[in-house]
Amino acid sequence: MKVRTRIAPSPTGEDLHIGNAYTALINYVFAKKNKGSFIIRIEDTDRSRLVEGSENRILSSLKWLGIHHDEGPFRQSERLNLYKRHAEELVAKGHAYYCVCTPDRLNEMRKKQEVNHQPPMYDGRCRELKLTNGSTIRLKVPKSGTTTFHDVIRGDIQFENKLIDDQVIIKSDGYPTYHLGVVVDDHLMEISHIIRGEEWISSTPKHILLYQFFGWTLPVYAHMPLLRNPDKSKLSKRKNPVWVSWFREQGFLPEAIRNYLATLAWAHPDGKEIFSTEEMIRVFNLESIQTTAPVFDTEKLKWMNGKYLKEEYVVEYYKDKYSKEKIKLIWPLVKERMKLLSEFESLAGFFFIRPPKKEIRKEVRDALGSCEWNHDVMEKAIRSVTGKEAKDAFMELRVAVTGKTVGPPLLESLEILGREETLARL
Ligand code: GLU
Repeated sequence: MKVRTRIAPSPTGEDLHIGNAYTALINYVFAKKNKGSFIIRIEDTDRSRLVEGSENRILSSLKWLGIHHDEGPFRQSERLNLYKRHAEELVAKGHAYYCVCTPDRLNEMRKKQEVNHQPPMYDGRCRELKLTNGSTIRLKVPKSGTTTFHDVIRGDIQFENKLIDDQVIIKSDGYPTYHLGVVVDDHLMEISHIIRGEEWISSTPKHILLYQFFGWTLPVYAHMPLLRNPDKSKLSKRKNPVWVSWFREQGFLPEAIRNYLATLAWAHPDGKEIFSTEEMIRVFNLESIQTTAPVFDTEKLKWMNGKYLKEEYVVEYYKDKYSKEKIKLIWPLVKERMKLLSEFESLAGFFFIRPPKKEIRKEVRDALGSCEWNHDVMEKAIRSVTGKEAKDAFMELRVAVTGKTVGPPLLESLEILGREETLARL
């Protein structure tokens, strides 16, 4: 079997959600591990929830993350005839029916127990008619028995059919619902493994029924655990940054994000914490994904990001602002203290912008005015004129030159800043 995986984001949010980035990474790695293909499909059939520009932002975030697709993006809105044809096939086979009932009407009938799990057409109010505006197609879900499927990560999962409502598969606007769209496309696109978030588990029995009604071979299912906030609640945009573009703006690096996501519900067999996606592809194994929902900890990601920072990234990030030569000189002084690209500014901004002017003790200024411009020599010169007060004098000098009480090594910084500029600040 050729391995084909996919992600199927809906363009209904601001950008790519970090949870979707996580699912994308696992799908990508699994496909690459098996010399297969990774596909992107945009599920844009919920017209009322579409967000302008969302699709483009999702695609560009995936690209930035380095999670490249082999096929797509396919768009469901461009495939409407396919879904309609398949829905009509189900009607012809007796597995689905046309219905003109509005959801309100159906609920009302349910309340009055005019219908139970009886498809509404049986009560005589809904007739079989051609799909016109205002009518829907519903799946005829069996009223007894169970639907079972196997999940690679979770084992067998069983649902009672009587608890599953007759699902709408084609809406009154002519668009398919998620259930029909996802099954028709996963089949036609020959998706072999469906790896997605656990929030879709309860949809899966409806999909299994559809596969059975069409007479199609089932794909392999794997439902990934959902990410949580450090306080164990479900990761949500109300509590934490979740959009990939936010991480990008903050100066997180794609390779660090991929590495961090990789470690969430899966562990490198050698217990390594820092490893590349190429390495992950070599040793990855889908069965060993854990089911406990992992915590997504931005602080931990920051720490990991620090391991991936490189001089050339800082140069690129600030290319419109600071010169390459200057950044290269400063980098050795700040690299141990930086975790995010954006932190360069708060650590090293004083090299470029003068803080408000401050007086310092005259003997220190004089010492700096006449000694050789080398940090060891400066240190000795300042110590010899300040004696026991050296510590205070250094702090005073730091604040005067950098505008802050903490920062990179002071005298090495002065060496880069130069005598003229340093004295001008004192
Ligand atoms: N369109 C669904 C989503 O928004 C796809 C779920 C699936 O992978 O089946 O995530």
